[in-house]
Amino acid sequence: MLTEIAIVGSGPAGLLASLTLSEAGVPHVLIDHQRFPRDKVCGDAFSGKAVEQLRKVSRLRTAEILREDVVYPVFSMLLVSPRGDAFRLVFRESEQAALNGFTAPRKDYDHVLFELATAAPETTLIEGTRITGYERTPGGHWRLFSGEEAILDTRLVMVADGARSVFTRTVLKRRTAGTSIAVRAYYGGVTFPDRRSIELHFLDDLAPGYFWIFPMSHHRANVGVGLGTRHRKTASPPLRDFFMQKQQSLFAGRFRNAVPEGKPQGWPIPLHTRWWELAGDGYMVLGDAAELVDPFTGEGIGNAMLSGRLAAETAIAAKGNYAQPHLTPYVTALRRHLESEFAVSRFLHRLAARPWWFSQMLRRLSRSPYARRRVSEMLLNVEARKDLINPIFYLRALVGF
Ligand SMILES: Cc1cc2nc3c(=O)[nH]c(=O)nc-3n(C[C@H](O)[C@H](O)[C@H](O)COP(=O)(O)OP(=O)(O)OC[C@H]3O[C@@H](n4cnc5c(N)ncnc54)[C@H](O)[C@@H]3O)c2cc1C
Repeated sequence: MLTEIAIVGSGPAGLLASLTLSEAGVPHVLIDHQRFPRDKVCGDAFSGKAVEQLRKVSRLRTAEILREDVVYPVFSMLLVSPRGDAFRLVFRESEQAALNGFTAPRKDYDHVLFELATAAPETTLIEGTRITGYERTPGGHWRLFSGEEAILDTRLVMVADGARSVFTRTVLKRRTAGTSIAVRAYYGGVTFPDRRSIELHFLDDLAPGYFWIFPMSHHRANVGVGLGTRHRKTASPPLRDFFMQKQQSLFAGRFRNAVPEGKPQGWPIPLHTRWWELAGDGYMVLGDAAELVDPFTGEGIGNAMLSGRLAAETAIAAKGNYAQPHLTPYVTALRRHLESEFAVSRFLHRLAARPWWFSQMLRRLSRSPYARRRVSEMLLNVEARKDLINPIFYLRALVGF
């Protein structure tokens, strides 16, 4: 079978690509090795960026996706330093203000998107098929294999198969530099000082990684720990032990009546370190496969959705000519959206790796109402964000504005 466009992976990146193509009436094949609804190891926290991406795809009835039984609105993020200094970043002032962040089990959220995407007549779904190999044919198509079996030939492949992308490893020979590892567990009955705030606890022995406790609907919590890249050799089973040990010591009071739902599960997080070739002849790389996770917060869903939409828009504009020069506008657009944000996050990631400085900074910032307001503004506004990488801002913070 020869197809025009194939999307490999139906996570947030692949689904937004599919929905955007369908919106423009472009037929495509969507492939995933799992059957939905499926779980994805994740912190389940969504920023305003994810909401914005949903609103951009007009066929999507945003309210239907963001319905109460799926999302749990959160109003702020609490950053706690290794010395216990806390800085609250408010992104929604009241119930009446627009939704700007929420938590939602990925199993449910991805499923709602998946149902919308696969209901479109433009989408042909191939479920339960793992793409394990790619070959360039003499005719200039990509042939996709599952084991020995050739599944289809395609003129354009959108690579959205996540952190363990087969295409980036086997075709592009990419060795990721910034992959961190994290474990996540669900609990019932965890106590919260504020059930509308997600919490990031930076700890000395994790720096610049953190321990997170996120409230969810039905009195559940998503709890986990993510390592900084320099710790990644301490990966899985030890990380799981480390997670249990922290949970039982530092946070014992809050977990006194907590009931775990299953075992903690680990998964890699490809943090963004630098830009590389995300588009070439007949391919574009999206989401986690493109290492688009924010290096400071670990947020990747919103960026994955953004990349899906931009890649699909580029494919539509390319009008069937998928040679590299016609696909590089995807990379240009992605960089325009994310470059300044990643620069700030890399800076904060480096700052968080120095627990003493990071603690001092959070202490100073938390004591100044001006700084609290300014940092919130800076994180929500792209232009103002540039100040966040200006050392003068931090010098002023240290001397008390
Ligand atoms: C522990 C942890 C906590 C995290 N917490 C957060 C958070 O709170 N907020 C946030 O914004 N981000 C978080 N992230 C990052 C976020 O999960 C990812 O950035 C996001 O899922 C990326 O979306 P994606 O569509 O690129 O990939 P994925 O969501 O991984 O989707 C990839 C899809 O491809 C399919 N697939 C994989 N391989 C193949 C194959 N060979 N053939 C066919 N199909 C394939 C998979 O089944 C899957 O459906 C976290 C990550 C981890 C590991």
